[in-house]
Amino acid sequence: METAPHVGSVGQEVLELQQRLLAAGYSPGPMDGIFGKKTLQAVRAFQKDRGLPVTGLVDEITAKALGITLEAGRAILRRVDRRDGRVALTFDDGPNSRYTVKIANALADAGASGTFFFLGSMLESAKFDLSCVCGLGHEPASHGYSHTSFHKLSSAAMEQELAKTEDAIARRCGVRPRFFRPPYGAFDRRVILVARKRGYPFLTLWDVDTRDWTRPGVSRIIATVDKNASSGSIILLHEGYESTLQALGGILRVLKNKGLRPVTLSQLIEGHAD
Ligand SMILES: [Zn+2]
Repeated sequence: METAPHVGSVGQEVLELQQRLLAAGYSPGPMDGIFGKKTLQAVRAFQKDRGLPVTGLVDEITAKALGITLEAGRAILRRVDRRDGRVALTFDDGPNSRYTVKIANALADAGASGTFFFLGSMLESAKFDLSCVCGLGHEPASHGYSHTSFHKLSSAAMEQELAKTEDAIARRCGVRPRFFRPPYGAFDRRVILVARKRGYPFLTLWDVDTRDWTRPGVSRIIATVDKNASSGSIILLHEGYESTLQALGGILRVLKNKGLRPVTLSQLIEGHAD
């Protein structure tokens, strides 16, 4: 599992990295928690000066030399380091009465699997049959209960969000979710710890953001996947948009052309689990 901070990483551990780089006399660019070009240059310069392999990737050795632990980094899954062409298509914010069944069927018809990050509240109000998700080789996962930013909640409230969603998924799909994606991809150390306590060893984010919720248009969604997806990618999509559904055929086509195969998250991390 590739979890070391790298280009495209965002979040607390990148901010920590930037602070350490700055303290060590290297300029990582704006202290924004985003691993961009400047941060990459700073990491490379640091590695070169210390006689470390100049990879630009903050692996264990580089982290140690910088005096940071990768504990937070290990707790975030953005993509998986694998070469066999597996990728994960993930769909947030459902179930959605208009789109869930259509998305699940479209994927299954193409021999593809997806992971659905359901909201507990949506599950409770969804009256339609969800066997299309659970029965067609797809995987349900947790996106929390009410789509609240977890880091703004008390730890007890976070636990409740997770527990209620697990119950709802178990009731509707007959399984316990293995993955949790915090709403908005927002988290802090406390979110990581509470999630871990409830049995999620890491938070699941993504490395390919289609930004489909901004309604960029079908061709743009497909082009974003075409340009950015690679073996091991986790691709972020949403359930509530017509254009996402419309783009699905094109997404599956470009992935196939790139030799990539959509599988569930469980299949993506197979052999790479913690
Ligand atoms: Zn969401």
